Amino acid sequence: MESRSALLKQRVDGHYPTVTHGKGVFLFDSAGKRYLDGSSGAMTASLGHGVEEIADAISDQLSRVAFTYRTQFTNQPAEDLARRLTDLAPGDLTTAFFVNSGSEGTEFAMRAAVAHWREQGRTEKVKILGRHISYHGMTLGALSMSGHAARRPDYGSLLHPFPVGPPAYAFRYARPGESEEDYAARSVAEFEAAVVAADPATVAAVIVEPIVGAAGGALVPPAGYLRRLRAMCDRLDVLLIMDEVITGIGRTGEWFASGEEKVIPDLLVTGKGLSAGYAPIGAVLLRDRLVQTIRHGSGIAPFGHTFSGNPLGAATCLAVLDYLTDHEILANVRQRGDQLETGLRKMAARFPFLADVRGRGLLWGFEFVLDPETRAAPAAGDNVSARFVEECFDQGLIVYPAGIAPLNNAVVVSPPLTIAAGEVEVLLELLEAALERMESEVFSV
Ligand code: PMP
Repeated sequence: MESRSALLKQRVDGHYPTVTHGKGVFLFDSAGKRYLDGSSGAMTASLGHGVEEIADAISDQLSRVAFTYRTQFTNQPAEDLARRLTDLAPGDLTTAFFVNSGSEGTEFAMRAAVAHWREQGRTEKVKILGRHISYHGMTLGALSMSGHAARRPDYGSLLHPFPVGPPAYAFRYARPGESEEDYAARSVAEFEAAVVAADPATVAAVIVEPIVGAAGGALVPPAGYLRRLRAMCDRLDVLLIMDEVITGIGRTGEWFASGEEKVIPDLLVTGKGLSAGYAPIGAVLLRDRLVQTIRHGSGIAPFGHTFSGNPLGAATCLAVLDYLTDHEILANVRQRGDQLETGLRKMAARFPFLADVRGRGLLWGFEFVLDPETRAAPAAGDNVSARFVEECFDQGLIVYPAGIAPLNNAVVVSPPLTIAAGEVEVLLELLEAALERMESEVFSV
């Protein structure tokens, strides 16, 4: 463990290689080293790097007009993007509002939820409940909704003290012998108890990721969970915010992961893959009933930002959506996802310390255990996932450390949605080589 932690410390201290360029799923640094981008950065670069169609669309828009302000002009790319997104989204999510990041998106959703109730005279409905083991962004409102033990303490007194519900995390929270359906019912019942304890008359919304990405390591909820959660929200008269910043725009093989159980959230937040990393932009989709209450209310709108809906960002996203459609990338996600899953399951069979391969589409995770029977996690201080990420980085493979304290033991594998079959094989070979190093250097002692 010791020799490698020097490398980790170097990177923690900010000594990163300098990237020079990228092509497809590969990135290159100034020393000429090649990396397979097996995490799309932070689940963002969905089309890979250096895609000329996107560069051309950006250049074309740049030469027309890059920026206009949303209270002075609308612009065609933003109008078209709003229409495209609401057409792709489930149910009556009929209006889009543009922001510039995932955090701004979840925070806008928070304000919109509060505004929706305020316009009906229910000014006391202001709490937003997330879940334990979740991340919704780094701004103070977004962090207040996040059950992210590691990122909260430094800002404790600045955060809203919202309670959190339980995670949907079968590997660690389901009872022995409990069926998927029973676990889904119990987990939602416990969430409901948390909302009731907080007093639903003071709760505006709950917020969840359909599959927990960075915080949990691709935690797929048990079947029926999202449907039950929707029913819970209706029962308690609170709104459902779906954070699809990671899962949205094709990552799971569908345009939106909410659609899997035919669940229509009241607010749906996207970011990251929306522009595939070619522009900083996010979007919040709102259900028609919210739009009506807010639009026909007191005029105190949830507001936006200077760059909200700027033509350059919107044109970038339109080019990304065109690319995804024209090249039938969602079908590729499903096929390459199956291939990746098969490879990961083979590794779980070979390495007893690799457990709970989970995910969907091209969003996969697993975690490290000391013993497959007891599922005991390595000591949090050992930071095994960070250590593993370093091993991979050494080999020229980028994967993402996940699983927040006190576990720190999960990994996300989420390559660009455009990855080819041969490139998935290269990814798996590099992963296996890094696992062999973990076997001999970490898990053999
Ligand atoms: N929600 C989720 C689910 C995320 O994973 C992230 C970023 N990791 C955010 C919100 C915040 O997005 P951003 O970093 O773009 O502000």
